[in-house]
Amino acid sequence: MTQQTQQPANPQAQQFQCPQCGGAMVYDAGLGGMKCKYCKHQMAVPAQPGASGPREIPLAEGYQRAPRGLGVATIKFQCKECGASVNTAPNERTASCTYCASHSVIEVPPDPNLIQPENLVPFRVAREVAVTSFKSWLADLWFRPSKLKTMAELEQVFGVYVPYWTFDSQVFSRWHAERGWYYYVTETYQDNENGEWVTKTREVRHTRWEPASGQRQDFFDDVLVCASKGLPEKLADSLTSFDTKQLVPYAPGYLAGWRAESYAVDLPVAWTKAQSTIQSTQQSRCHSDVGGDEVRGLQVQNQYSGETFKHVLLPVYVAAYRFDGKPYRFLVNGQTGEVQGEAPYSWVKITLLVLAILAVIGVIAAIVISRQEDSALRHLPTSSVFASNTQSSRESMMALRLGGDSVRLSRG
Ligand SMILES: [Zn+2]
Ligand SMILES: [Zn+2]
Repeated sequence: MTQQTQQPANPQAQQFQCPQCGGAMVYDAGLGGMKCKYCKHQMAVPAQPGASGPREIPLAEGYQRAPRGLGVATIKFQCKECGASVNTAPNERTASCTYCASHSVIEVPPDPNLIQPENLVPFRVAREVAVTSFKSWLADLWFRPSKLKTMAELEQVFGVYVPYWTFDSQVFSRWHAERGWYYYVTETYQDNENGEWVTKTREVRHTRWEPASGQRQDFFDDVLVCASKGLPEKLADSLTSFDTKQLVPYAPGYLAGWRAESYAVDLPVAWTKAQSTIQSTQQSRCHSDVGGDEVRGLQVQNQYSGETFKHVLLPVYVAAYRFDGKPYRFLVNGQTGEVQGEAPYSWVKITLLVLAILAVIGVIAAIVISRQEDSALRHLPTSSVFASNTQSSRESMMALRLGGDSVRLSRG
């Protein structure tokens, strides 16, 4: 196969040399543009030659015709543990996986057949902000192993463009169901009251069912499907605050100095996932269309038309760390700053806390009981107090008797 590898003809051009000093320029999140690492020269991200603004690619033909590769010189590392393939700058050597911190990473040749991102959301949250978020998140953790705080501070926070597919589609939904209407019937019944049978009435609810059907037309815009291998689905889904209205045309410059994961969920699989998202939305929309008091046997058939897709990259800061051999991740949405994290629980701390709570409850219970006893004692005749007090000696009783109120001190 003579597939074009998208490896730049002039690799230096793709490494974004500074026009002033010749140093390497990287994309700066705080700036929203390129910045020279050495002389701090700034410039806008150069547009991809031939890029023509955001466009949606029709599913069927688009898959065949989509440009391939990242268009920038990268080295691809694959994690043997979580399977994620992450592209880094050629000069960046990585010893551990961006997503799971495993050291079983191997360099693999780039796959020239991967569809090129159509758009991306550039990083807007500066790296320092993400690092600060990570540190304060760690500091606020309860019931976590103490070792975690010192250990995780050593780990690094990486900005990685996470691959997503987004789909647009017109959906025509036809539905059939049974629509139920409630009606009430006054029934008489016999009730036994004080041994006598009396006739009473009550309202009983019934449902009248009627066949119903209908149709509706909806447009779905930017249904996102995460195509990452490194992010667990649940965690990826928790990062919900992306604004896809801020997608810009893909340009390799945005990746300079950043990592980018190659998608691991292929387009047809992602489209199936998007369809199931659309289906469940249409199911509930049609359900409310049926009307009535109750719905049963709802069946919805969806027809898709004008389906288009985009492969997009979304910015996420990832701090991956391992604890007791298990990977955990802390994420910051690189567009909005939204924070999500996983951390191990310290069962020792939780057990100690439970014990402490039980001890406090025990102390409170003891105080309450002793107060109740106190007040109970105060209401008892004084003689009983002494009668129950085995420590009281005859002498003390004699002394008290001499003190005056001898009658109440007599036993029995
Ligand atoms: Zn420079
Ligand atoms: Zn990994």
